[in-house]
Amino acid sequence: MLAFLFWHFLLDYQRQKSESEAYIEAAAYGSLLRAELDRELNSLLFISNGLSSFIKVYRNELEPDKVQAILTDLWSNARHVRNIAVAVEYKLTYVYPEQSNQKLIGIDYRDVASQWPKVKLAIDSREGVLDGPIELIQGGNGMIYRFPIFVDDHYWGMMSTVIDTHSFLQSAFKDVQNPQFAFAIRTADRKSVFHGDAALFEQKNIFIQQSSVPNGKWEWAIENKRIHNLPGPGLGLLLSVVLSLAVGALAYFFAQERYYLSEGALMDSLTGLPNRRLLDSRLNYAHSEAKRDRKRFGLMALDVDHFKAINDQYGHDVGDEVIKAVAARLKSNIRDMDTVSRLGGDEFVIVVKDQLSEQGLVKVATKLLDIFNVPMVINGHEIQVHLSLGLTLFDHASEVTLKQLLKQADMALYQAKRAGRNTYSVWK
Ligand code: GH3
Ligand code: MG
Repeated sequence: MLAFLFWHFLLDYQRQKSESEAYIEAAAYGSLLRAELDRELNSLLFISNGLSSFIKVYRNELEPDKVQAILTDLWSNARHVRNIAVAVEYKLTYVYPEQSNQKLIGIDYRDVASQWPKVKLAIDSREGVLDGPIELIQGGNGMIYRFPIFVDDHYWGMMSTVIDTHSFLQSAFKDVQNPQFAFAIRTADRKSVFHGDAALFEQKNIFIQQSSVPNGKWEWAIENKRIHNLPGPGLGLLLSVVLSLAVGALAYFFAQERYYLSEGALMDSLTGLPNRRLLDSRLNYAHSEAKRDRKRFGLMALDVDHFKAINDQYGHDVGDEVIKAVAARLKSNIRDMDTVSRLGGDEFVIVVKDQLSEQGLVKVATKLLDIFNVPMVINGHEIQVHLSLGLTLFDHASEVTLKQLLKQADMALYQAKRAGRNTYSVWK
């Protein structure tokens, strides 16, 4: 569980970090786009200033030809400009190019409900106003930059520059195209998207920024496509689970290893004697040693007689103490080179090495039976404990397996029990 939380936290942190990095990248790209747009807009706006200055200087000598000439000049120097128009007061008077825009002449701004608010805003604020992008009266999509001309502090008229939205934006962003990003732009007031995929504004993980245009604002949605390649929270969760399980398995594996290498895995906790696992290993060792040195070794299975009765009479705790005392007696009367092990309950197994004959093994068994003739004193109770023993001998020449050998000792033990207990029996 801790491993899970740890991985989850780490992955989540990594994901959030990558996500923030992706946002920062999007923001950086966003400011680049804004800078390019500003540059392109500024190059357009000088037209209006130029015409405004011209009118201020020549206001008393304005002739249609001269105005047309200057409009022609401005137009040919400007990029992305569909047409330039000049309104005297509120009425459109001059337009360039004239063809296809003829129908505009004579229009009074105050009669065009869709455009009047922005015209009025330009006059009231005495500043240029960018309208749109909008669908133009003459067709197509354009932005209209309106620049009010004041002469002697009085409103004289309006200059409008109609910019082709598509080619203007194409030109503005041509040097900063980047397949890693997608973006869309809309006007802040009308929320009408005029560039890019409108769906970006509704999408998650999108960087949103604003930019100022003359007397207005645009909103941008910038998508860093890299963010979709980041592992999502779901995947992070899955990864956390997988990693935690892996860590858990590893920890378990190491704990098992440690346990196997530790005494706990090899020793009986009650008596401190070797347990079945260690017995197996000692038996294997004795077996290969006997094979190699052409020797014999003896195996004894021991079981306490009527141990249930001891438990019943004195209780389980006293029973445990009896087991411990039996273990201690066996151990102290057996050579260090031999192995006394407890298999569980009141069962013990002894590996007696280097036994040349059955007689030698019987001698050991008799000695063990003798030492148990002395009663034990456990918790103030004098308890007479006897054992039964089953003996068997392994010869290097025999093909008996260790499993069979243990079985033989067990069967001999059974014989000893049947023979009345407190005795030994040798497997035949
Ligand atoms: P038998 O002479 O035939 O061996 O009779 P027994 O009463 O000793 O019977 P058996 O060996 O089959 O039973 C051993 C009993 O030892 C069974 C169980 O209740 C008890 N026992 C097993 N493990 C423990 C232990 O760790 N502590 C104690 N106190 N008793 C145990
Ligand atoms: Mg018993």
